[in-house]
Amino acid sequence: MKRNKKAQAQRALVLFSGGQDSTTCLGWTKNRYRDVHAIAFSYGQRHSIEIQQARRIAATLDVPIKVVDISFLKDIVVSALTGTGDVSKRHRDNKNLPASFVPDRNALFITLAHAYAQTIKADVLVGGMCQTDYSGYPDCRRPFITSLIKTLNAGSDVHIAMLTPIMHLTKAETFALAAEEGVLDLVLNESHTCYEGDRKKYPWGKGCGTCPACTLRKRGYEQFLKIK
Ligand SMILES: [Zn+2]
Repeated sequence: MKRNKKAQAQRALVLFSGGQDSTTCLGWTKNRYRDVHAIAFSYGQRHSIEIQQARRIAATLDVPIKVVDISFLKDIVVSALTGTGDVSKRHRDNKNLPASFVPDRNALFITLAHAYAQTIKADVLVGGMCQTDYSGYPDCRRPFITSLIKTLNAGSDVHIAMLTPIMHLTKAETFALAAEEGVLDLVLNESHTCYEGDRKKYPWGKGCGTCPACTLRKRGYEQFLKIK
């Protein structure tokens, strides 16, 4: 993939969770922008291991990371990710969505990242949202993100862009991109996506091996081995 020379002058802020997708995006951004920062959100996830791994990965890539505590979120939303319900079932309040859906999570994350971007003078936000073969979260789709960024820019009279490099990639293609960007080892050994907070070692990474996030990752890795 081409490195954009002009982009080297810009500062980028990556929305970072310590998962496979955002770790791949952090590697992608590091290879394109001279100055890269990360922001992570502690929102009462079932397992603090996500934040721990996010800090480790950011340190490995020499990226300053801001961890923002928004643990109030779990007091006002229903989601299996914050302790209400079984992750393999449908959402209690919306049967079209998985139980792991957190209402307005990405709206909040992007809004806070957009505010912090202004503080650190970042021109670009980068997020690992993906609408291809993921769990079907409507706030991960590009039209939603484009609309929100337009609104936030209007509200602050700024022109901050938001890039979503893996939006249309399958999980297998995201593994391939991680390899291309030089962060496949970090994805396999350090990133965390397992809903159960498990860190058992598998060829495709670490996790419980059976939750929806692990199943998706395992299947993606097996397909990646076929296409690489
Ligand atoms: Zn798992």
